[in-house]
Amino acid sequence: MSGTLYVVATPIGNLEDMTYRAVRILQEVSLIAAEDTRHSRKLLNHYGTDTPLISYHEHNEEFRSAQLIAKLHNGESIALISDAGTPCIADPGYRLVSSCRQEGLSVEAVPGPSAVITALSISGLPTDAFRFVGFLPAKTHARCQFFEQIKNEQQTIACYETPHRLLSCLADIIAVCGADRPIAIARELTKRHEELFSGTVAAARDYFGRGSVKGELVLLLGPALQRKPEGTVRDALIRLREETDLSWKAIIKQVAREFGLPGSEVYKESLELR
Ligand code: SAM
Repeated sequence: MSGTLYVVATPIGNLEDMTYRAVRILQEVSLIAAEDTRHSRKLLNHYGTDTPLISYHEHNEEFRSAQLIAKLHNGESIALISDAGTPCIADPGYRLVSSCRQEGLSVEAVPGPSAVITALSISGLPTDAFRFVGFLPAKTHARCQFFEQIKNEQQTIACYETPHRLLSCLADIIAVCGADRPIAIARELTKRHEELFSGTVAAARDYFGRGSVKGELVLLLGPALQRKPEGTVRDALIRLREETDLSWKAIIKQVAREFGLPGSEVYKESLELR
């Protein structure tokens, strides 16, 4: 019988956010693969767990995965944890889980905290649909390119950002998406200095610009604002007829979408111009 790989979530700050099941599994497995074994040893001591640890991080993922797979085939059960939160979510683990699946080995989730879900749950931004993009690019140019791609996005965009890049990141959002885009910034979730800023990007820049930003952050950009188009329906019809080679059918469809009107209404208006 082969063993099971347990993907175990650990707290993102508050040590009470650990499930009974996570503690039991960490005690029962024969080995725990952890990003930083010294950091995780302290965490495990807190829960009275002395299971042996082995390092598993982005620099040894490939080599270590092969070793762990061999142990699982041998019948050992192993837990995978990261420094905080859920493994594989902007954290190492994907390669190991993927290899286990390919080898037909059993993989079980032991769910718990994740910073992105925690932030979304208290943000007040729409969460019926959201897109998580992990860490934002470090350089302004790449970041602006990313914001160009998502500037009209109708779902909440969730990302991780470092405190020292927050202000330049907010400046890039203002330049590309506008100063009035809604944003929520969760800082130090579940810790003593937890806070959640909610407002426009301009207000966030003023708020966080007052001092140096510290701690861990989740940034949530709200859906693009539905802006009222300038001018009248007639102006828009004339503009599209003069500036594009779209058919009347396509023009009517586009104008109806921009103004949020039924196509039949725009069609009537177009008759005078044909
Ligand atoms: N796997 C983790 C998870 O499930 O949340 C995320 C790991 S990622 C390497 C670490 C990033 O998550 C931090 O840089 C920060 O952006 C975010 N993060 C982690 N803990 C947080 C906290 N307590 N408050 C706010 N953001 C946090």
